[in-house]
Amino acid sequence: MEQTETIYDVIVIGAGPGGMTAALYASRSNLKTLLLERGIPGGEMNNTAEVENYPGFNSILGPELAERMYESTMQFGAEHVYGDVKRIVVDGDYRIVEAGKKTYKTRAVIIATGSYHRKLGVPGEAQYNGRGVSYCAVCDGAFFKGKKLAVVGGGDSAVEEGTYLTQFADVNIVHRRDELRAQKVIQDRAFKNEKVSFTWNAIVEEIKGDGQKVTGVVIRNKNTNEITEEAVDGVFIYVGILPQSDAFLDLGITDEEGWIITNEHMETAIPGIFAIGDVRQKLLRQITTAVGDGGEAGNRAFAYIEDLHDRLAAAEAAAETVD
Ligand SMILES: Cc1cc2nc3c(=O)[nH]c(=O)nc-3n(C[C@H](O)[C@H](O)[C@H](O)COP(=O)(O)OP(=O)(O)OC[C@H]3O[C@@H](n4cnc5c(N)ncnc54)[C@H](O)[C@@H]3O)c2cc1C
Repeated sequence: MEQTETIYDVIVIGAGPGGMTAALYASRSNLKTLLLERGIPGGEMNNTAEVENYPGFNSILGPELAERMYESTMQFGAEHVYGDVKRIVVDGDYRIVEAGKKTYKTRAVIIATGSYHRKLGVPGEAQYNGRGVSYCAVCDGAFFKGKKLAVVGGGDSAVEEGTYLTQFADVNIVHRRDELRAQKVIQDRAFKNEKVSFTWNAIVEEIKGDGQKVTGVVIRNKNTNEITEEAVDGVFIYVGILPQSDAFLDLGITDEEGWIITNEHMETAIPGIFAIGDVRQKLLRQITTAVGDGGEAGNRAFAYIEDLHDRLAAAEAAAETVD
């Protein structure tokens, strides 16, 4: 492993909207800030066609918003390098971040690695992602006013988000079992909603489109193997969302599903390690919420480092007095 010479004040892991905002706040407070990212800066915004719920823009393409955020993030001297972080080691008041063959030494770390949606893995899913295929009702529901949607899944997210989508569209929940896994209260709300229908024992085999957008789903009945095609304008997939936190599981800062637990200041159980955005245990995972978390963490990291300097200076002064 090659240890880099610089000692950073803050290392931010992940350059999605959360991480970029944290790096912006930290570097603007004159902290020596490094942004480590294993892909293209922007995170999930790079996979988003149109964003209509980020204030300041009536509508903006996800990659364009990512580019603009990156430009403003870098203006106060933060460094950005490629790095796929595998581990953080706590070494007294230092935090050592391991990424590939390099290790980086820092006073504070902000984890902003996001989450990912489990995919169905069927033909058409990737092709029509952002063109009818979605994993986020709050993000994309409003694009489907007066349309017909399929929602795939039977857990809390599928049923809750499916019900949410009925304010825009008629919804058919396609589930592979003959009963839902969602909590009873969520199920009851869906069963009472006239705009929700169900297709049971049903496996989505393919998402069909006209080359531009989704036009339907091909469904196989698990018991009879009968194949049917249903015309829909969009398919919302809720078969699991997972935190990107494998590299941090040994720190003991996650819940049983791997989401990182923080307080409202984005502090984890380990001093000097913060977590923000989608990787955090929270209810609403959006660009706005990630950005809000990032501002808070950048600010708290500044306060943490000030305290640390004060503490170290006091300890040094005490040692000199003894001498
Ligand atoms: C298809 C889609 C459409 C969406 N539409 C909208 C919308 O319209 N409006 C809205 O508000 N929200 C939308 N969202 C949600 C929004 O994109 C997320 O809530 C937001 O991007 C989360 O920001 P984040 O910074 O926490 O994480 P992310 O954006 O996920 O960024 C995390 C970054 O960390 C990096 N990373 C992960 N692990 C490591 C590692 N070990 N080492 C180094 N780097 C790492 C990743 O490469 C990534 O760049 C959408 C999401 C999806 C999937």
